Parts: sequence; C-alpha cells; structure tokens
Amino acid sequence: MNEEKLVIAVDGHSSCGKSTFAKAIAERMGYLYIDSGAMYRAVTLAFMEKGMLAGTGPDQESVDRLLGKINISFRPSEDGGRSDTYLNGINVEKKIRGMEVASNVSLVSKSAAVRRKMVALQREMGRDRGIVMDGRDIGTVVFPGADIKIFLTASAGVRAQRRYRELTGKGEDVSLENIRENILQRDLTDENRKESPLRKAPDAVVLDNSYMTPAQQMDWFEALLKELDSRATKK
Ligand code: C5P
Repeated sequence: MNEEKLVIAVDGHSSCGKSTFAKAIAERMGYLYIDSGAMYRAVTLAFMEKGMLAGTGPDQESVDRLLGKINISFRPSEDGGRSDTYLNGINVEKKIRGMEVASNVSLVSKSAAVRRKMVALQREMGRDRGIVMDGRDIGTVVFPGADIKIFLTASAGVRAQRRYRELTGKGEDVSLENIRENILQRDLTDENRKESPLRKAPDAVVLDNSYMTPAQQMDWFEALLKELDSRATKK
C-alpha cells in the first residue's frame, strides 16, 4: 500500500459494533478515529435541551440559528481510555448515549441542514487523511473516495443483546425489547430517509460480525489490508 495515509470509512447498521471495530482499526493504523454518530447525537441533545423537538418540531430558522452556534469536539477522557464528545465545551458523552437521545436522533439526522453542517465538519476532520470514521454515509457521501470502505452488519437479535449489555452495564434501566425496537426503528428511518440514506457503497466490503470476536474482526481486517496491498503491487 502506498506511503500516503489512508482514509477508512466504516458504515453499517445501528449497534453492530462499528465504533469498537473502527477504534481498533484506528489504533492499529495509528490514525485518528471519529465517531460521526456521536456528532448527530450531540446535535440531537442540543435540539432537546432547547425544547425544539416538542410538537411539530422546529422551523428552519430555529434550526439554522442553533446550527450556527453549535460546536462539537472530541477530547480524550480523564482516564485516557476513550474519546469523549463535547457540545459547546461541555462533556456530553454520558447524556448522548442514553435512550432519550437514541429515540430522537434518527429524526434529527434526517434534516438536510443538520447533515450539511455535519458533513462539512467531518470532511474538515479528514483533511489531513490518516482517519477512520464510522457512521452511515461515510463511504457514500462524506468520503466517497475513501481508500477502504467497510460495511458492517449483524443480526438484529445479536445487536440488541450487545446494546442491552452495554447500557445495563452503565446502570441504565432498559428493556431488551425496547432496545430491539429502537434499533430496528433507527435502521428503518436511516435507510429510508431522503438525505444520505444508509446504503452500502458499491465498492464497500461487507462484514457480518454476528458471530465474530473483536480479535477475529481484526484478523479479517489484516487479511483485507494484505489483499489490497497485493492488488496495489500488481498494478
Ligand atoms: O452510530 P450511532 O448509532 O451512534 O448513530 C446514531 C444515529 O445518528 C444513527 O441512528 C443515525 O440516525 C445518525 N447517523 C447518521 N449519519 C452518520 C452517523 C449517524 O445519520 N454518519
């Protein structure tokens, strides 16, 4: 593979372990990792805090005003183990992972104005390459020219179990059934929205990780790197 740093896009369904996998890839490559879903979650929280999701939803002027004032950044957590999401300088990592934000995020991320702003920020983050970004439209819209595109999926049952374990592990009082419904509903909204729907890019490689451990997924990635390398040297 050439000396230049790569751009790696990881897209896929809700709760199929995109961030865990994308983070591990970023670590392996020594690249920056960006969780684009956290950005949509942070915007959703901002909408919620302003009471903008009540009733028929916000008018375009309020959306534009809010987007103009929003600042989203990532900083290492205090224990250094994660990257935390900040909304206008405030750590919102815990809040954006809860069910309340999860129930509203697909609605907010349908907005063309929200997507325009997020895509511009994401492209700016990838300006120097050497980035692994996960989301729903990274290989199709944000970085259509990405060097590696991975489309990750897993069965709905497995995904619900994983998210259930994660949330109950953090002390959230949630039911497996509610989580499963939320996951399926988000997939449906994400796949059917007009603006940048969740789609596998034609040149993405699919990985179904339903029955794979993180280590097996990394073995798969190493094999993919090797294959791309040998293809590049044959050219
Ligand atoms: O990845 P995560 O589940 O945290 O994403 C939360 C939501 O943000 C998704 O269900 C989707 O509605 C939205 N999203 C998006 N485009 C992305 C990343 C996330 O629309 N690139």
